[in-house]
Formats: sequence, C-alpha cells, structure tokens
Amino acid sequence: MTMEWISVKDRLPESEIGVLMYELGGISIGRSCSKEVFAAHNIAFEEWDGAAYYPVCPTHWMPLPESPEKYCDICKNELVACVCME
Ligand SMILES: [Zn+2]
Repeated sequence: MTMEWISVKDRLPESEIGVLMYELGGISIGRSCSKEVFAAHNIAFEEWDGAAYYPVCPTHWMPLPESPEKYCDICKNELVACVCME
C-alpha cells in the first residue's frame, strides 16, 4: 500500500475513519468527522485531546495504515470504530 498525502483541496476522506493529518510543521492522528458534524459545522477532521474531540484543519491527510492490533481490547470493535475513548 502506498502512503501518499492527499490535499484537502483534492479530496476529503469518507466519514468516520482514522486518518493521519498534516498541518504546518506537524503530523497528528485523528479521524474524519461524521456526515452530521460535517453538514452542521463544515468540519472535516477532529483530534482527540485526552478528554474530547476538537476540530482541526489539516492541509493534507492520508488513511491510517492498518494497526498490527486490529481490535480494541475493551469493546472488541475494530480500532477505527472504537468508542471507548468517547
Ligand atoms: Zn474500544
């Protein structure tokens, strides 16, 4: 799988997937917003700060590579669908 940065001007990810995000000077991990959040607030990406998700505006993104541990220990969901931290 080739990992290439995608400009937000070119394409946005499908809703609610884990993404790597690039914003001036830094790379972070977050997720794409739900369709509802995007429609209501025009926010495409959000990042977890340990207590809540907050909106971020990266210039580029790419899908997260598959984790070596695919499932959450707690909820047994796939990690990208895990809601334990919410
Ligand atoms: Zn979980």
